[in-house]
Amino acid sequence: MNRGIITKMRIDYDRPVQYTFVVSDNFIPLNAYLNKTICLKWIGKVQCCCGKQLSEFYRQNFCYQCFWNAPQASPSIFKPELCTADLGIEERDLDWEQEFQIDPHYIYLANSSGLKVGITRKTQKMTRWMDQGASQAILLAEVPNRRLSGLIELELKKILSDKTNWRKMLSGVPLALDLKKEKEKYLSTVPADLHQYIIDNDEVTEITYPVITYPLKIPNKNSLSFQKDHVVEGKLLGIKGQYLILDNDRVFNVRRHEGYIIDFLF
Ligand SMILES: [Zn+2]
Repeated sequence: MNRGIITKMRIDYDRPVQYTFVVSDNFIPLNAYLNKTICLKWIGKVQCCCGKQLSEFYRQNFCYQCFWNAPQASPSIFKPELCTADLGIEERDLDWEQEFQIDPHYIYLANSSGLKVGITRKTQKMTRWMDQGASQAILLAEVPNRRLSGLIELELKKILSDKTNWRKMLSGVPLALDLKKEKEKYLSTVPADLHQYIIDNDEVTEITYPVITYPLKIPNKNSLSFQKDHVVEGKLLGIKGQYLILDNDRVFNVRRHEGYIIDFLF
């Protein structure tokens, strides 16, 4: 058994995409473990991004201090339209926020569990789509900062979902959509003063995942978490988004367990 702290899986684009399970400085090429048994044992401790170790997180994957004070947990992380760093206004830490927010961002349409809208830093485009388990994606607009991407997304969110239904995403490959047509349909939703940012490039990115068998159904008890089950063990039948698909219709969200300290056996 090795011990380490879980971070989200690294995903490299290929057909299908290639996953690396990252636990501290252990990098495990996960596609090679399909159809094999894996075992993750939570030791009952978590570590926040600030380095503090606790028996559990306060909220999300943060300790109390970080949840209320760290820029990584500020309201604009969840509502990008609240970003103000490009206007020189500090939310929690202006240096961090300028670095994070004043950077080209994309607004995109993706098909993960159906059509959705999302935003991402330009450099994180593929990572973002693969993290969400999207099967298809197309770019809609490119803006110079995160606040503007939030303003465009806000309009699109009035008529389109910005969430992935993880149960549906994990139940199979979604029906293929004509994303060029969908893009055309939703362009009129972009506020007039932001039309200059619309992207002409209509290239559709297609993504496939290493899945042998999709779960037939995922009852709540089969969505594994270390809070409920200290040991997660089973045959790996697929990997999609940030989820492991295990035998007996069970799934494990790796990203939700960032910071958990585990012993693991592959
Ligand atoms: Zn912390």
